[in-house]
Amino acid sequence: MVTRSSMPDFEEYIQEIACLWETHWLTNMGEKHQRFESDLKQYLHVDNVALFTNGHNALECVIEAMGLKGKVITTPYTFASTTHAIVRKGLTPVFADISPETYTIDPSKIESLIDDETCAILPVHVYGNLCDVDEIQRIADKHGLKVIYDAAHAFGVMRDEKSAACFGDASMFSFHATKVFNTIEGGAVCFSDPDLLELLNQWKNFGITDTESVEYVGGNAKMNEFCASMGICNLRHVDEEMMKRQKVVERYREHLSGHEGIKLCAEQPGVKPNYAYFPVVFTEEFGATRDQVYEALMRKNIHPRKYFYPLVSDFECYRDVFSSDKTPVAKYVSDRVLTLPLYADLSLDVVDDICRIVLTCVQKADTL
Ligand SMILES: *Cc1c(COP(=O)(O)O)cnc(C)c1O
Repeated sequence: MVTRSSMPDFEEYIQEIACLWETHWLTNMGEKHQRFESDLKQYLHVDNVALFTNGHNALECVIEAMGLKGKVITTPYTFASTTHAIVRKGLTPVFADISPETYTIDPSKIESLIDDETCAILPVHVYGNLCDVDEIQRIADKHGLKVIYDAAHAFGVMRDEKSAACFGDASMFSFHATKVFNTIEGGAVCFSDPDLLELLNQWKNFGITDTESVEYVGGNAKMNEFCASMGICNLRHVDEEMMKRQKVVERYREHLSGHEGIKLCAEQPGVKPNYAYFPVVFTEEFGATRDQVYEALMRKNIHPRKYFYPLVSDFECYRDVFSSDKTPVAKYVSDRVLTLPLYADLSLDVVDDICRIVLTCVQKADTL
């Protein structure tokens, strides 16, 4: 499988949740919620964190709490959630193309898309690759725009002692079971303006502002005590998990780097990666297409993922409104990318097998 969820030892989790049978306090910002929030602040080097049921609701809530209206410049090379959050909150996404190196939004494509109705930029740290945060901030400051990062892939990524949570006005993290760090389902927003905390907490709790007043038409997106407990436990082991992932990534690189037609993400200078994904782009020179490689792996019961394919702008729900021809780099990558299986306990022997299958695709394709 492309991924496998990290879990603490059974005993560790049981010990963490045992006290819930005494308090019977299962949700609504209980003891575990508070503890997990403060653990996260420390881990991510931030002052402000709000927890959520999942990353998607976190993103919707931060858009609501900031009161954004109008157009948002974003990337089509992402998971459905990023664009859906914008659209579901009544805003209009405007797609900028991506960088062919990091697959994150290309800042040189942003400015020409800004008009009077633009209120924010919503970039994605794709595969844990950091966006060009300095250039994005420069553009946002020049035009008075908010910056919200979809940092769902970037938990644990650091740049010069700063975590990925420190950039822009806010960053959304997903703690879904498939991510590097999980709380089963869960998410968080880290943000710079401390006044946003109260607003986020109200928006995620039906807009209730005190026991007898409801000021906003909010939803329900509160993290429960069992998920928070999972977060407390998994956070103790996340560094070790990333070190194990690093070994897997290094093994992949040994086998696959330098091969004609195989494009891997370069490590970013000054950035400590989290080894969240191992994307491979198969170009024309490879001799077999991405889909041929995908089929070859599936036949051996190995499940890679075409991630991100199709491009968001090609989804049935969006393709009548947007054209992927306007973002040719994103389209090119989406048609050729495969993320290979990667998780902490993936055995290096399996990595060797996967690479052997990938590399022998070329010979097979020749004889077809
Ligand atoms: C996982 C993910 C999300 C959504 O997070 P959930 O916790 O599953 O709601 C949003 N954006 C990206 C890029 C993701 O990978």
